[in-house]
Amino acid sequence: MKLKRQTTRRPDHAGHVDKKRPPSILNPQSSTPDPQSSLAGLSEGTRARLAKLGIAAKFDLVLHLPLRYDDETRLYALNEAPAGEPVLVEGNVVECDVKYRPRRQLICHIEDGSAVLTLRFFNFYTSQLKSLVPGTRLRAFGEIRNGFYGPEMVHPRYRAVQSGAPVARALTPVYPTTAGLAQDALRRLIAHALAGCDLDDTLPPELPGGLGLPAFRAAVGLLHNPPPHLAREDLQERRHPAWRRVKFDELLAQQLSMRVHRERRLSAGARALAPRADLTRSLLASLPFELTRAQRRAWREIEHDLARPRPMQRLLQGDVGSGKTVVAALAALQCAESGCQVAVMAPTEILAEQHYRKFAAWLAPLKVGVAWFSGGLSRKDKRAALAAVAKGAAVVAVGTHALIEEEVAFADLALAIIDEQHRFGVHQRLALRMKGARPGQGAQPHQLMMSATPIPRTLAMSYYADLDVSTIDEAPPGRTPVLTKLVSEARRAEVIRRIRDACVVGSQAYWVCPLIEESEALQLKTARETHAALAATFPELKLGLVHGRLKGEEKARVMEEFRRGAIQLLVATTVIEVGVDVPNATLMVIEHAERMGLAQLHQLRGRVGRGSDAATCILLYQHPLTDAARERLKIIYEHHDGFEIARHDLRLRGPGELLGARQSGVPLLRFADLNADLDLLEQARAAAEPLLREHPDAARRHLARWLGARHEYLKV
Ligand code: ADP
Ligand code: MG
Repeated sequence: MKLKRQTTRRPDHAGHVDKKRPPSILNPQSSTPDPQSSLAGLSEGTRARLAKLGIAAKFDLVLHLPLRYDDETRLYALNEAPAGEPVLVEGNVVECDVKYRPRRQLICHIEDGSAVLTLRFFNFYTSQLKSLVPGTRLRAFGEIRNGFYGPEMVHPRYRAVQSGAPVARALTPVYPTTAGLAQDALRRLIAHALAGCDLDDTLPPELPGGLGLPAFRAAVGLLHNPPPHLAREDLQERRHPAWRRVKFDELLAQQLSMRVHRERRLSAGARALAPRADLTRSLLASLPFELTRAQRRAWREIEHDLARPRPMQRLLQGDVGSGKTVVAALAALQCAESGCQVAVMAPTEILAEQHYRKFAAWLAPLKVGVAWFSGGLSRKDKRAALAAVAKGAAVVAVGTHALIEEEVAFADLALAIIDEQHRFGVHQRLALRMKGARPGQGAQPHQLMMSATPIPRTLAMSYYADLDVSTIDEAPPGRTPVLTKLVSEARRAEVIRRIRDACVVGSQAYWVCPLIEESEALQLKTARETHAALAATFPELKLGLVHGRLKGEEKARVMEEFRRGAIQLLVATTVIEVGVDVPNATLMVIEHAERMGLAQLHQLRGRVGRGSDAATCILLYQHPLTDAARERLKIIYEHHDGFEIARHDLRLRGPGELLGARQSGVPLLRFADLNADLDLLEQARAAAEPLLREHPDAARRHLARWLGARHEYLKV
């Protein structure tokens, strides 16, 4: 687990020797590679294996820290060695043989006068057999288990010794490694790097000192070569000051990088969209509801940002159904009041279409033109939309990622709104923003991102430190919380009855088909079969089916019929996860809920309970449940607050998944753990600003050491 993390957390482009690295704003001249950092002396094979571990430069070896430690400092008598943990023992070979039953294996018995121990090898060389002659004194390290023939060690590490040879005085580090790279070889490379790299502190001594943390050199030195008598538990738990120093440095680098990017962004400049309030006021007057207090607050924050000549970068977060869309529409209108254009991009066709519908309904009466872009547009419609946007006749363009295609050119784009922003990659967000960059003027469009997956506080403090955040933490009035029920598949008949009861009295229901990650085709087949089976069960109801493979217009037609009430039971794959808004739907059944993630379940559940009638979400699950599935179902059953659910999600899955980091370009933390090291995160955050101000050189050195070229990839 740990091993996998360490290797996957480090992007291949990591390192300090990327000659093409664009100059950092902290140090525009620094483009010379550090000669110390080269791995040039190594064979190509070794370099390739190191690259697999994320090691591209010599200094990366310094930061390749042990996964755990073996304690070979204590030699146990065979009759006293504890079972269940790796121990060091010694004895003379009494017998050594190859056995062929039940499979080929090498069996070697050793004894030390107190007891006999079996060493068992399934993979071995014939030369091994020859060297293990009776009388040879062996030292073996491994875990003792009670096998069929008494105590045994399977595949111990061993070597021949003289009686009385000294034992290790310190713990033995064990590194994450990869096939073909032995621990010993890795240890030698690391020792070499430790001797050859600049380990001087990047930070002024009073900083780590004031926090009770050791110097950098001392910290990495201790972690690679623990001093004698240091207890294993101290290091294993990663609470040792040396570990804390490394984690602090990593968190500090992240904080510094965020601040540098923020400065850079703000210095780019943007159009100041001074509020005139004629259009926004008209929209507010036309709405059938009053904004909630939380919506008003978010709107004020956005209004204020847009009026400034610096590009806004704001996240509008609020639980599903909290009413983010209308706030986005207000922002769009403020932009329209200044005669500028707005792009609204959403990750799925259904969601984008829903936005288009709402924007068009709200803005058309105000004579603000809205254009629609999607992959499925006819050539003629597309040409019309392109022309409208290019000439400025359409003030707002709503669409999927079709919006970022090259041919889409705006007359004057000043605001980019991105819904479910974490579903887009860095490059897609950047591409949309570039549509508003005006060459030579250094100006960028404002950016408003929306998300229904609230960012837990620790993430907001770390990965999202460069974002301003507005939170809608209040649901529109009159909503009743959704009642969640966990129902075993065995009680399916009861669920069927509930659907009939609900639809008979005029409500509508969703039936969400199981997620089948391995195969989209199978998922589709299951959805069709479910639809057919349910249609046979409910001859008196009108059913519809939506899935990801449906053509855009076909999908829109089914959704429209459901919205009108012509369809009572909508069978759907998880495509309805975001963006469906049908207040009359009060019942949702989710099949195989145990396969779905927390965020997904929460989003799906948010599709019901949008009107004032009480709503129910039935989570159908099938035994056997894994521990993780059981825990997810328990959390979703117990919690309704999206923040609380996101917090649990972070705990269960780690930040990578939540950030969508595979495509976000954000380097993940390797050592620090946002939950366990919250105190360090807070300290790093407090330290970053004064360090940049008072010791810019130190800050630059620190960033170069920790992020190197990756620094440039952060948070575009
Ligand atoms: P989300 O935050 O999930 O995007 P929406 O913007 O789709 O939520 O809003 C959900 C529903 O609530 C919509 O039907 C919207 O018109 C309605 N709504 C938004 N704000 C209010 C409000 N202040 N009072 C009543 N209904 C509202
Ligand atoms: Mg929404």
